[in-house]
Amino acid sequence: MADDFEEARERMVSNQLIPRGISDPLVLRAMRRVPRERFLPRELWDSAYGDHPLPIGEQQTISQPYIVAQMTESLDLTGEEKVLEIGTGSGYQAAVLADICSEVYTVERITTLSERAKRILQDLGYKNIFFKIHNGTHGWPEHAPFDAILVTAAAPSVPDPYLEQLKDGGRIVIPVGDRFSQNLIRITKSQGEIISEDLGGVRFVSLVGEYGWKEESKQ
Ligand code: SAH
Repeated sequence: MADDFEEARERMVSNQLIPRGISDPLVLRAMRRVPRERFLPRELWDSAYGDHPLPIGEQQTISQPYIVAQMTESLDLTGEEKVLEIGTGSGYQAAVLADICSEVYTVERITTLSERAKRILQDLGYKNIFFKIHNGTHGWPEHAPFDAILVTAAAPSVPDPYLEQLKDGGRIVIPVGDRFSQNLIRITKSQGEIISEDLGGVRFVSLVGEYGWKEESKQ
C-alpha cells in the first residue's frame, strides 16, 4: 500500500510538476516525500494524487498538487527560512513548507480543521510547525518578521499586516482578485520597496475577515 502511494507521488511529480516547469530540487524533493493521502478523508486516498483540488470538509479544499508546488517554488526558499502560512486547511501545504524550511507558523480560523491538521502532522513527526486558531488576516505579529508568507485563501487585496510582518528581502505569495477568480501575486520587499509580479490565474476559497471578505463564498 505504502509503495503504491510512493509510485503515485513519483508519477505526480513527473507528469504534473516537471512538464509544467517546476524545477526547484527542494520543492520536487518535498512533493516526492509528503504523503498527500494522509491529509484527506480515507475515501479520497485513491484520488489523492489526481491533477485537481479535493474537498477537506467545512467547505474548504486542498489545492491541486501543481498549485502547491508552484506557490512553494515562488517563495524561493533555500532551507533556513521562517515562513507564515495563512489557511492551514488540511495541513498538506504546511508539511511541504516544513520539509524545506526551518519553521512554519500556520494560522487557521476553523478549529476542527486546525486540530485535525495538527494531529496528522504530529503523527507524521513534524516538529517545526506551529499552529494558531485565529483570524489570519492579522498575520502572527508575535513571531514576525517572516522570511516568506504564503496565503492559501483568496483576498481582495494584500492585507497590510502581511507587508508589515515581512522581512526586507522577503516574499509573499497570495491569490488576489474577486471571489470567483484570482491571480497569484508574488510580492517582494526590497529596501522598503514593494515589487509585485503576476504569476497567473487561479481559483481559491475566500480569505474571511478584516482585510479579506466579510463571509464565506457560496461555492
Ligand atoms: N493550505 C491548505 C488549503 C487551505 S484552503 C491545505 O494545504 O490544505 C483555505 C483555508 O483558509 C481554509 O481552511 C479556510 O478555513 C482558511 N481561511 C480562510 N480565511 C481565513 C482567515 N481569515 N484566517 C485563517 N484561515 C482562513
